Amino acid sequence: DLGYMTSEKAYRIVLAGDAAVGKSSFLLRLCKNEFKLNSSATLGVDFQMKTLIVDGEPVLLQLWDTAGQERFRSIAKSYFRRADGVLLLYDVTCERSFLNVREWVDMIEDVSQEDVPIMLVGNKSDLRQNGVSCVPTSYGEKLAMTYNTLFCETSAKDGSNTLEAVLHLARQVTKKA
Ligand code: GDP
Repeated sequence: DLGYMTSEKAYRIVLAGDAAVGKSSFLLRLCKNEFKLNSSATLGVDFQMKTLIVDGEPVLLQLWDTAGQERFRSIAKSYFRRADGVLLLYDVTCERSFLNVREWVDMIEDVSQEDVPIMLVGNKSDLRQNGVSCVPTSYGEKLAMTYNTLFCETSAKDGSNTLEAVLHLARQVTKKA
């Protein structure tokens, strides 16, 4: 990754959301273009570097994967404090994870810099095609409007929209900087 070698500024993007919504899988798809069906639970916090071309310019991102488990929340908070942008994931097949988005937004707005851009992501959209009951897309759109965040649905499994989600967020983050 060439961007990693230079001294250019890296924007800090933090992944948020309940355990098992697919944060680690999302990063694995984005950074290595891989998917594992039984990925192990994230322990603590880990990051990946990724360079994207945003409006013709290379943008270096430091993507932080935080554990959704309650016992790690205090660790995660210190990462949100310095975040330039947040990818807030829920699992479209898990209503609970969607209902918990509110709690995540409250926590993020509480600890982070003012008006940190958030991309709300409904992940596992591939399962909708399999007839699994899902949180409707319109619910995600409405919630995003309520919080004035960006929104999209993604699949870390088949890769749909994962890069687009990060690109949209990166565009917002660099506009602010
Ligand atoms: P995390 O705890 O939020 O990091 O979630 P993981 O990345 O560990 O994913 C939890 C489980 O969901 C794993 O078994 C993944 O293989 C699965 N998973 C993650 N993303 C997707 C997706 O987009 N589609 C499907 N079908 N499964 C997914």
